[in-house]
Amino acid sequence: MNAAQRSQRNTFAALALDRAPALRNDADALERARNASSSLYVLMLPDSMLWATPTGTGLALLPPDHLTLEQRGSATLLGRDADGRAYFSCTSDEHPHFSGQALGLRALAANAPAFDAGLAAYASALAHWQLHSRYCPACGATTTHDEAGHRARCTSCSLPQFPRTDPAVIVLVEHGDAALLGRRPGWPDGRFSTLAGFVEPGESLEDAVRREIAEESGAQVMACEYHSSQPWPFPSSLMLGFTAQAASRHLGAGDGELAELRWMTRRDLHDGLNSGTLSLPPRFSVAFQLIHDWLERSAA
Ligand SMILES: [Zn+2]
Repeated sequence: MNAAQRSQRNTFAALALDRAPALRNDADALERARNASSSLYVLMLPDSMLWATPTGTGLALLPPDHLTLEQRGSATLLGRDADGRAYFSCTSDEHPHFSGQALGLRALAANAPAFDAGLAAYASALAHWQLHSRYCPACGATTTHDEAGHRARCTSCSLPQFPRTDPAVIVLVEHGDAALLGRRPGWPDGRFSTLAGFVEPGESLEDAVRREIAEESGAQVMACEYHSSQPWPFPSSLMLGFTAQAASRHLGAGDGELAELRWMTRRDLHDGLNSGTLSLPPRFSVAFQLIHDWLERSAA
């Protein structure tokens, strides 16, 4: 399996959608798409909630006639699927007259199909950015959003702003038959995951892997390899999964970000999971996939 195939398995990362950037600036075609009976709208509610089906197993995608003209006109273009159907997202204070329930992105992702989870992540990330780009960072004046929701422009100095994504590395560190896993303060006893941290300005991904692992654990990384990526819109991260080889199992003091650090063999982890003394991050996280793939590798 290559990196592209591994990423496809990651929740939020398997969105088969043409983002249709040309349509964002084609006013007439955009207007037709906003009102086409085949188009569908993702409805975002305040507090980052998403309008889901009554059973909560997918997004409640609304046809245009369930939205007001104003809602349609200000909606963000997400893209088109393989059939040419356009998808938009819209933030509203009002629950629609359409059966369903409001769900957070994590709750939705646990049960939704890959397409819905990916669409929800994309819409959530854009909605968060739009909320936080209402003022110009240069002069403080208000902005307006154009390009169908993908650009903010200052009403005074015209400075443009574009949606931001914050890269973070998440790393399964190995030495021999053991992996280095950590528990953050506040997590339940026995819950362990891979180590992670944000990439800093002017830093390569490989340097970020080395620095983060050294900071959090004192372990020295000798080599690392890219595994897969996952959009992580909580609120605007992109998780870049890596595997890495440590020079030894020596651990230092760490920076206090982790409450506990352990080298675990596959046997340790299997036994702990079977007896219930250990637990892993949620299945929809790339951390789970990194650990899962490492466990599977022993069987090969
Ligand atoms: Zn400005």
